[in-house]
Amino acid sequence: MQQQTIRHPVQCSGVGLHSGKMVTLSLRPAEADSGINFYVFTPAGLQRIAMEPSRVIATGLATTIGSSQASVSTVEHLLAAVRGLGIDNLRIDVHGGELPIMDGSAAPFVMLLKSAGLRRLNADRRVLRLKKAVSYGQGDKSISAEPYNGFFVDYTIDFAHPLIGVQRLAMEVTPQAFSQIAKARTFGFLHEVEALYARGLALGGSLDNSVVLDEHGVVNEGGLRCPDEFVRHKLLDFVGDMAMIDLPLQGRFTVRCSGHALNNQFLRVLNDNRDLYLEEAVLSRPGAKAPAAAQAPAAGAPGLGEGRALAV
Ligand SMILES: [Zn+2]
Repeated sequence: MQQQTIRHPVQCSGVGLHSGKMVTLSLRPAEADSGINFYVFTPAGLQRIAMEPSRVIATGLATTIGSSQASVSTVEHLLAAVRGLGIDNLRIDVHGGELPIMDGSAAPFVMLLKSAGLRRLNADRRVLRLKKAVSYGQGDKSISAEPYNGFFVDYTIDFAHPLIGVQRLAMEVTPQAFSQIAKARTFGFLHEVEALYARGLALGGSLDNSVVLDEHGVVNEGGLRCPDEFVRHKLLDFVGDMAMIDLPLQGRFTVRCSGHALNNQFLRVLNDNRDLYLEEAVLSRPGAKAPAAAQAPAAGAPGLGEGRALAV
């Protein structure tokens, strides 16, 4: 399987969730093995932010990456689209400190990337494959993962709200299947939204870019895009959060009630213990002889019970 980038540079503008101001995003093709990189314009010059779990510096309102000198907010839905479509290498230039929130889903970014066209590069795809089962959790939130030849997510949410309750979605995340979750919008509760506004936060937040719930149901006039839009969006966020590492991750993930913060903590555990949990594999093109690591079957991998519980 070959690495991919985009064919042509593309750009889009929209409202930033934090600032409420117009912000601009440019996407450019990037060479093989360069990965996904953000570039931020600062008074000190152009700063690069690479995909590394420790570069996530805030997960409150949205995922923010970088440093106190140069940061980008609200990266998760674009990253989900990039990983969902199987793009290995991309340069992302950001003006304004955050990405546009668009409609609160990944669908506008999928459209943007597809309008740029995808281009195969003359290099085999490299992935990070889980080689040992691992579980991580805090309270009722947990992520369990086991070796798997692909990226499979089984996600369950449980909200004490009449419209949400328990929702579960399990899927192999492929470019084709990604369309099932791309349109799912971010959601929040009215009392939380009002508290954010009162603190001068989420100035760009509106019913145009999020599903807002009161105690009875959806405030948005148009309602939901699908009854399980909530779990679809959480799975989308998970795909974006797992993109904050240098290569596409492979494994089978069972996720319960997680969020950006726990997702990032889990990814840090994997990255900080790379020798224990991860191995790099090359997905060779059909007909080419695959290196041993790429052919290692997932069979015989330890079950979840044998995974080391790193936090409970
Ligand atoms: Zn989200």
